[in-house]
Amino acid sequence: MPDVTIKTPNLDDIFEKWKQTAYRKDKKKLEKQFGTKGAVFSLDVISAAETVKDTMKEAAIYYAVQKTVAPAKGKEEEETVRADKVSKETYFIFKNEVNKDEWDGDEIVPMYNSIKAKPCPKCKGKGYIEDKCSSCGGNGKISDKLLVLEGEEMNKDKKVFEYPCGNCYGSGKTKDLCKECNGHKNLYTYEIKAVPFKRVVSGMPVLHSSAKTKYEKEMGEDLHKLIDEVEGIRFDDFKSLDKKAEPSLGYYNKNIKKTISSAGKDYKNYEKDDDYKLVTKIHLFPMIQMMCETKKGKSFEIYSLGSDKKFITYSNF
Ligand SMILES: [Zn+2]
Ligand SMILES: [Zn+2]
Repeated sequence: MPDVTIKTPNLDDIFEKWKQTAYRKDKKKLEKQFGTKGAVFSLDVISAAETVKDTMKEAAIYYAVQKTVAPAKGKEEEETVRADKVSKETYFIFKNEVNKDEWDGDEIVPMYNSIKAKPCPKCKGKGYIEDKCSSCGGNGKISDKLLVLEGEEMNKDKKVFEYPCGNCYGSGKTKDLCKECNGHKNLYTYEIKAVPFKRVVSGMPVLHSSAKTKYEKEMGEDLHKLIDEVEGIRFDDFKSLDKKAEPSLGYYNKNIKKTISSAGKDYKNYEKDDDYKLVTKIHLFPMIQMMCETKKGKSFEIYSLGSDKKFITYSNF
């Protein structure tokens, strides 16, 4: 099969597409940067010839991966604490699965909805421990002897005099604070469980571009959404991409070579990593980078990704 060179879009077409997009997005900004005071503003006054200062032909490599997130690490367990210690902990409620990348707390946490009371095993939920009263020996009464002198003979006699015990209020039993539950009757249990991480993050875009740009991430996300509207060349592996890159693009440079090599290394790492699955083929896109300047002297860049038939533009204007 002969090599097919993908046609890059015409520079004027790229510029026109950017202009229309910028106009739709922020007409006022465009007018401020390109308009002339007193004159009626129209898009025709913005010309590529005056705006584009330099153009570079570059390339971009795109593929998407699916990430399988490992479950939260740590031992799930049940904690039992005294009532007055329950508030020492911070609890969690999860309504939805959590994105692990956005979570920087512990991976196992106390769950609010798991808090339960359980009767103190030592006092059986009474809060005190009952014992025989040591003052009265358990019968609730104190018994004294009264000396009584009886009759003219003054016979000495001893009579029993009983009254309720003041230590146990006559009950014969004392209640001692249960040290286990501190009198709160219950102990409380709660579960420390795994944060429910989202297990699969699907379709994460990976973009490598030979253009020196700090907008790779944004472009990758745009491209990911619009992948069907952009024409590139698809490859099953980097070996064939490496071989076909130059004839496919119809141009080549040192940065493109470097980008293919580093994208290939990156791809290999994803292949080796069990947490990732590659979910698309490898796409090679022609990429045009235009260095621009507005009439007011503000610098910005326009990028196009794709062929003359199907391309998207990206700009930091
Ligand atoms: Zn007593
Ligand atoms: Zn107790």
